[in-house]
Amino acid sequence: MRSLLLRTLPLILLAGALAGQDFESERGALVEEVRADVRYTSRHLGRAELRRAVLEALGRVPRHEFVPPDLRRYAYENRPLPIGYGQTISQPYIVAIMTDLLDLERDDVVLEVGTGSGYQGAILAELVDEVYSIEIIPELGEQVRERFAQLGYDDIVTRIGDGYYGWPEHAPFDAVIVTAASGHVPPPLIEQLRPGGRMVIPVGGPFSTQQLMLLTKTANGEIRSRQVLPVAFVPLTGEH
Ligand code: SAM
Repeated sequence: MRSLLLRTLPLILLAGALAGQDFESERGALVEEVRADVRYTSRHLGRAELRRAVLEALGRVPRHEFVPPDLRRYAYENRPLPIGYGQTISQPYIVAIMTDLLDLERDDVVLEVGTGSGYQGAILAELVDEVYSIEIIPELGEQVRERFAQLGYDDIVTRIGDGYYGWPEHAPFDAVIVTAASGHVPPPLIEQLRPGGRMVIPVGGPFSTQQLMLLTKTANGEIRSRQVLPVAFVPLTGEH
């Protein structure tokens, strides 16, 4: 009995240490990798360096808390990972550039469509005080609510529903981020964007090239748009 305990104790301690690990240096390395990718794609992005606040948020949010436990060791690799129900947590580089394109100020009100794991929402909540996030898959929506509560992201308000229609009760939004690809930009989301507001959204079909689009609404309500770069997202689902 005693020898079994002596043999298993180191393993138990190791598992405990991994569970409690903060991964700070892995996060630092990830930030450097994202910065290098940004420099490499600067022609598309129109800039070679992301805003410092965005990089700092990436360096703070514990991505390992947003992935399934058996994938934790991959949490700081710069790639998407499965989160169940056929969905993914987006690649950190994509999360970073989408956040940067929103050009956020602390008092901006932000709507996210596609809460998923909650990672993108947590990055947004590091930068602004008001984040609303909608998820269509009830199980993911429930999980993320618990995760935000455990991690202390109390300012993110979540809802289970079809984000195509936005969240009129909290509109207008200074920024809207859609993290699933749509064949067109949902008109309700354009309506709910404040004049001067920004929206990032992948546009395209599930089996065709999608373009990450940046839309801005001018002070007189006109929409300007530009294609940022080709991307691959899971589709925006729902009845629309
Ligand atoms: N932002 C997420 C994250 O950080 O983990 C990435 C999410 S994943 C790429 C896209 C998410 O959009 C999925 O969780 C999917 O269920 C959700 N989704 C798809 N269509 C939706 C819709 N009409 N309304 C709300 N969420 C939707």
